[in-house]
Amino acid sequence: MQIINPATEEVIQEVAEDTPETVAGKYQLLKEGQKHWAAKPLEQRIGAIEKFYALLDERKDELAATLTLEVGKPLQQSYNELNGARKRLEYFIKNAARWLAEEWITEEDATREKIVYEPLGVIANISAWNYPYLVGVNVFVPALIGGNAVLYKPSEYATLTGLHIRQLLYRSGIPENVFQAVTGKGPAGEALLDLPLNGYFFTGSYRTGKHIAEQTAGKLVPVQLELGGKDPLYVMDDVDDVNAVAEAALEGAVYNAGQSCCAVERIYVQENIYNKFVETFVALAKKLVTGNPMDKKTDIGPVSRKEQLKFLAGQVEDARQKGGSIMSGGAEPKGKGYFFEPTVVTNANHGMKLMTDESFGPVIGIQKVKDDDEAVQLMKDTPYGLTAAVYSKSFDRAEKVMKQMDTGTVYWNCCDRVSAGLPWSGRKNSGLGATLSYHGIRAFVQPKAYHMRG
Ligand code: NAD
Repeated sequence: MQIINPATEEVIQEVAEDTPETVAGKYQLLKEGQKHWAAKPLEQRIGAIEKFYALLDERKDELAATLTLEVGKPLQQSYNELNGARKRLEYFIKNAARWLAEEWITEEDATREKIVYEPLGVIANISAWNYPYLVGVNVFVPALIGGNAVLYKPSEYATLTGLHIRQLLYRSGIPENVFQAVTGKGPAGEALLDLPLNGYFFTGSYRTGKHIAEQTAGKLVPVQLELGGKDPLYVMDDVDDVNAVAEAALEGAVYNAGQSCCAVERIYVQENIYNKFVETFVALAKKLVTGNPMDKKTDIGPVSRKEQLKFLAGQVEDARQKGGSIMSGGAEPKGKGYFFEPTVVTNANHGMKLMTDESFGPVIGIQKVKDDDEAVQLMKDTPYGLTAAVYSKSFDRAEKVMKQMDTGTVYWNCCDRVSAGLPWSGRKNSGLGATLSYHGIRAFVQPKAYHMRG
């Protein structure tokens, strides 16, 4: 398999792909190792993650450079991702013991009762490329701390990062028979579905997630899905600082070239401030620098996958044909690399694909709304349910909107953020189950009820 630099289209490296046979061999290794790992004291498992935490910092220059090289995100954003991953590790290191400890329910009666949390066993962590460290640590860290062995399948677009993660975990004291990486494309992931694993934890597209859920349903093991979104942001007319809101919304839309599961994907603005907001937003968007992600002044790097360019151009053209005004961007810069200029489409409406299908790129539609009711109706008009953001001076007013959202996360005066202490979960086509917070620690263990007499 060739690893391609999306900024230059050059082949960086070739990597061997796993086959169903090699994947089955890795599973056998883990099946044996998991028992020994689970028998180790919890502090020892947490201690290994502490070493991993330190190594992520010690090796950050090399790790950030590799990440930018293979996925194309601006170098500073690669450093930010590594820092963000370490913050999540801090949460798990501090909180895992509390949520994995046995719980006494009845201690003094003739029958004593307690709950003990046991690992699931060998689990699959099938991962995405857009934030390989962040979406990876959400799964393999609490899984390892909980005593599981992990078959980790990094995305084919973040393979080198996946191999770095493997190497650093081994250096941290995680045994080879407890963590194995599976390299390759869809078929390598498919091979995991044929194995009798004890849980499937997937981050990626709705299409693949649904396929995995269907394929593994008969196994009756936990299946968690962290999928895509079409996340709305609504600006009410009482906001104090339109410039600050426009800046935040734009960053939410184009950070990582718009390739975030919780990226702002569509914006609604109340009619009284629509013109002012659009003018500010477009002016800011025009200042963004698209180019070499290794260059410090670059805001927008290439998108990671070539086929996305055609998809984005199609969404913009569809919007143009349906009356949208292309206020900035709209075209691929010429030359090598998978670049797409940040594109703002105003006069958007829900007849346009741009407002209904996940874009996963630096394009954004802005639609005018009359009032909160119209905004709510449009925000809810989606098969996805990951996040929704509201900007307003009034919490009460914003809360009325947030309460009506069928999403796992709502934001007031912020957007496009994830916190380790809060559950990360999607509703409807955005997923099933939660990572992070205590939910994301307990997701990797199963309760055993003890009834004890004598
Ligand atoms: P994808 O579905 O194309 O691939 C995800 C992973 O699945 C990859 O490792 C891939 O090799 C593997 N895969 C592909 N076919 C498979 C099969 N048949 N069986 C098993 N595995 C298979 O998604 P992607 O392009 O890597 O990620 C982008 C999507 O992920 C976007 O929709 C984005 O919103 C979503 N995402 C969601 C979250 C979240 O937390 N909700 C986080 C990041 C990304």
